[in-house]
Amino acid sequence: MLDRESVWINPKLTPYSQASLPVDTRLIDDAEKRLERFKPFIAERFPETGDGTIESPLSVIGNMARALLHDGNKISGRLLLKMDSHLEIAGSVKARGGVYEVLKHTEELALENGLISIGDDYSKLCACRDFFSRYKLQVGSTGNLGLSIGISGAAVGYDVTVHMSRDAKQWKKELLRSHGVRVIEYENDYTEAVKQGRAESDKDPMSYFVDDEKSVDLFLGYAVAAKRLDAQLRQQGIEISAECPLIVYLPCGVGGAPGGIAYGLKAIYGDNVHIFFVEPVESPCVLLGMATGRGDGVCVQDFGLTGVTEADGLAVGRPSGFICGVMENLISGVFTVSDENLLKWLKLLYDTEGIFIEPSACAAFAGVCWLESFGLSKDYLKATGLADKMQSAVQIAWATGGSLVPAEIMRQLVS
Ligand SMILES: *Cc1c(COP(=O)(O)O)cnc(C)c1O
Repeated sequence: MLDRESVWINPKLTPYSQASLPVDTRLIDDAEKRLERFKPFIAERFPETGDGTIESPLSVIGNMARALLHDGNKISGRLLLKMDSHLEIAGSVKARGGVYEVLKHTEELALENGLISIGDDYSKLCACRDFFSRYKLQVGSTGNLGLSIGISGAAVGYDVTVHMSRDAKQWKKELLRSHGVRVIEYENDYTEAVKQGRAESDKDPMSYFVDDEKSVDLFLGYAVAAKRLDAQLRQQGIEISAECPLIVYLPCGVGGAPGGIAYGLKAIYGDNVHIFFVEPVESPCVLLGMATGRGDGVCVQDFGLTGVTEADGLAVGRPSGFICGVMENLISGVFTVSDENLLKWLKLLYDTEGIFIEPSACAAFAGVCWLESFGLSKDYLKATGLADKMQSAVQIAWATGGSLVPAEIMRQLVS
């Protein structure tokens, strides 16, 4: 099964009312309120966000759906694209978790040091760059988390260091350096970059490490996406219910972003939402962590896989143990996808809709195309009663990144 595109169905999926929920879901409201408090600050530092809300469009992609059907796929219901590829500040889903964690840390420092009190206009913090420049932020990244922490951290005034794995694209390193961020490059993979970054940061009491493998704050920042999505669905006149179920496909690396979004969606829709992660064939770390029950005790190399993929955002060999645990009762399954298909769908989306997203983000289309054709996922549809409701289902491909890709590289990818 590991040598080709496939699906793993989670045998531990549990009715939501009986599922184990290790993170208090009220903390999602808390995170949403914190982002609300920071709106004046975000608006001033990043005027492109308008009022300081970092949110992406939810788009109907009828032409893409027709092209996929024309290719011989079976796709029922309505197909939507959640365009985190076009989120302001970081151009990827990382603008959710990453920016949230930077702001949470900023609020803590600012409150402790009397720079603000809750209820103040946080744009006051724009005048505190000197204060924040004494503090360091560090993060390990395959690229996009580094962009998010680097760009938002530099905007607050922090001294930021990003520890980049070998998969990170050159343009991401250059963009960070142009923001005054220190970039340290490693010959090893992402797990090693995180380890080194964590060790560097732990040595320095003025340094804060954003821990992609373990951070509950990142997770909560991602989870807020679900509430925003709910509002967007309602605006489009869509009410999710047992008769109108929601199916969501999330590209997955270490697990934090899809995990947080999944947690938030389950908290709102319970059993009426079905969530599938999608990972590269060569790097299905969360699939392996969950299927073996060993979480971060396994890596893809243990199974003879290389971990090498064009989908740099998903090139993670060892999953987050935290996420494997939290997802145990909640996700429906995990699809795997080849690089070849990612590049094919990238071009197809561009040709049919004029929308560019990066290779990692195209992983979502694997779920869209194969849910109703792979044997194991068809069994899942029958077992859950979804098979009879597919005509009224809403399917969302979560496009996780792309708008910061330089024009030249984009041209090469779409040609
Ligand atoms: C990081 C990333 C993901 C996956 O997020 P994880 O938290 O690593 O699972 C998916 N797509 C893109 C474009 C990303 O940058």
